[in-house]
Amino acid sequence: MTIVILTGPPGCGKGTQAEIMAGRLGVPVISTGDTFRAQVAAGTELGRRAQAYLDAGEYVPDEVTNAMVLDRLTADDTRPGFLLDGYPRTLDQVAVLDEFLDAHHRHLDAVVALEVPPDELVQRLLHRAQLEHRSDDTEDVIRHRLEVYDQYTRPLIKEYAGRGRLIPVDGTGELAEVSNRILTVADSLLYPHA
Ligand code: ADP
Repeated sequence: MTIVILTGPPGCGKGTQAEIMAGRLGVPVISTGDTFRAQVAAGTELGRRAQAYLDAGEYVPDEVTNAMVLDRLTADDTRPGFLLDGYPRTLDQVAVLDEFLDAHHRHLDAVVALEVPPDELVQRLLHRAQLEHRSDDTEDVIRHRLEVYDQYTRPLIKEYAGRGRLIPVDGTGELAEVSNRILTVADSLLYPHA
């Protein structure tokens, strides 16, 4: 049973590394960003509520996001654990997750924080914008997303460090180098006494 949060600013490579780490751990990835985008694409009620926030680079309101994640966490495939990509992102979401884990007698194993310097993030996001055409990948929205991250999500790093759960990982360099660092962390969680 392994429960991990993967956190980091927009453009740090979270989505890619989430899949790699979850594969090693044998747990599903729960990505709030992907879930919101899928709901928008499918034209659901949740998608309609989320779309304007996504396009503007704002966070979807906590009550909407929390309800969606709590619902997902009750699915059977989370029995061996799960890896959260993009959640929690606010202190309110941290409190909701804490309460859920307590109520289910489960505990958080690690919060892995991918670290990339701000200048490189902007470069990467602009590059991705050219390739993927995500609606929130224009330069103004990118800068705004980085500000929103600094204001609401960066404080979570301190919170989890204070709990002794934080594992910082260098997110710079070749994809394979970052993956190797991530897999080393995954192995340290799977085999703590090795
Ligand atoms: P990135 O990490 O590149 O910003 P994500 O795919 O994780 O991208 O998220 C895209 C968007 O989805 C966010 O800008 C936000 O609007 C919404 N979102 C994702 N996760 C959350 C969350 N935990 N709380 C609120 N909004 C969220």
